[in-house]
Amino acid sequence: MALIVQKFGGTSVGSIGHIRAVADKIMATQALGHELVVVVSAMAGETDRLVRLAHELSRVPNAREFDVLLSTGEQVTIALLSIALMERGCAARSYTGSQVHIRTDSAHSKARILGIDISKIKADLKAGKVVVVAGFQGTDEHGNITTLGRGGSDTTAVALAAALKADECQIFTDVDGIYSADPKIVPMAKRMETIAADEMLEMASCGAKVMQIRAVEFAGKYNVPVRVLSTFQEGTGTLIQAIEENMQHPPVSGIAFNRDEAKLAIYGIPDRPGIAAQILGPMSDAHIEVDMIVQTLTENGLTDLAFTVHKRDFAEASAIVERIAKLVGAKRVKVDPKIAKVSLVGVGIRTHAEVASKMFQVLGEIGINIQLISTSEIKIAVIIDEEHLTLGVNALHEAFQLGTEAKESVANCL
Ligand code: ADP
Ligand code: ASP
Ligand code: MG
Repeated sequence: MALIVQKFGGTSVGSIGHIRAVADKIMATQALGHELVVVVSAMAGETDRLVRLAHELSRVPNAREFDVLLSTGEQVTIALLSIALMERGCAARSYTGSQVHIRTDSAHSKARILGIDISKIKADLKAGKVVVVAGFQGTDEHGNITTLGRGGSDTTAVALAAALKADECQIFTDVDGIYSADPKIVPMAKRMETIAADEMLEMASCGAKVMQIRAVEFAGKYNVPVRVLSTFQEGTGTLIQAIEENMQHPPVSGIAFNRDEAKLAIYGIPDRPGIAAQILGPMSDAHIEVDMIVQTLTENGLTDLAFTVHKRDFAEASAIVERIAKLVGAKRVKVDPKIAKVSLVGVGIRTHAEVASKMFQVLGEIGINIQLISTSEIKIAVIIDEEHLTLGVNALHEAFQLGTEAKESVANCL
């Protein structure tokens, strides 16, 4: 008998028919003798609908009330799923985040889980019940409802699995595992049997929203075995595992992309110590997160600085940049929201310096201009024009042979 935490995403509970199918799936797992805690998201499109409603009333809705609103989506699905389970004769009990004391900090819309009281859940499991918990929500120390950021139900599931010391956390979604690239954009993408936790973390932070970044962090930190599976298809999915030393790795395991960033550039800045801080300081003062930053070499005492921010901060960041550019006497400002970030991810990048040059060459050969570059130990990311995204990602996928059977062959192509 194992203790399993299963999470079903928005598409998986997107209609009454799907909720019935999920209930059947849960009962089939229970019939094998396993104890089950189930985490559900809001029905597909519901969180977006609630976001739109709030924005009809206010450009910047009150943070506390916004979370009260957003958390309702998951409350609907825990109740519907529990009703469906009970209708089938399965003892089930639903809980909102606050009912099982999912304690978070007070950062509304991006709260972090601090602790979970598992006593009620344990008692229900002991009594043979399936416990259904609302994903994506918790409460802060003052009892205010908080939400965990988009995709946050993944984090609820992994955190519950960690707290309960579950044998496995299964993330059920609309694809049958983690692929070498988003299968909706790259038809040749290949499902992986396993992926190193480090790589999954980098893929998630580079835009592969198949799992929320914090869920992957949690899994690594608390050593939770996580498997990503399809709700609609049988299969073993992809297991996220801690990396073993001296494991053989292809240089590149996957490609991720992100359309959520915008680029801002200031040209002809009189170069002097502290100038980058003078420009980027006001961004952090306005709580705008800056991702990639590139400063060119100084020529005739002038330098250029370009960086990216999330698209939601674009208007505010553009206004700040205009103001600062005037202040420091820069020549001109150019802003561009129509960009995309494409990242090659792989533990093997550490030891294969040639991956970067091959990436640039592949993009160059099909006429895609690289605007910014950033690298880390296991990632190389470039900013390109958004309209070239599908072309670029598919070309890279082919060049690094990520769709081929034997991963080992990737090493040969370099
Ligand atoms: P859920 O609603 O179940 O949480 P999400 O939409 O958040 O589902 O995540 C699943 C989606 O992630 C897939 O439909 C797919 O388009 C996308 N995705 C992005 N990158 C990858 C990848 N490398 N492998 C698999 N899916 C990916
Ligand atoms: N319902 C939330 C969202 O759409 C949380 C989740 O689905 O994980 O982001
Ligand atoms: Mg998700």
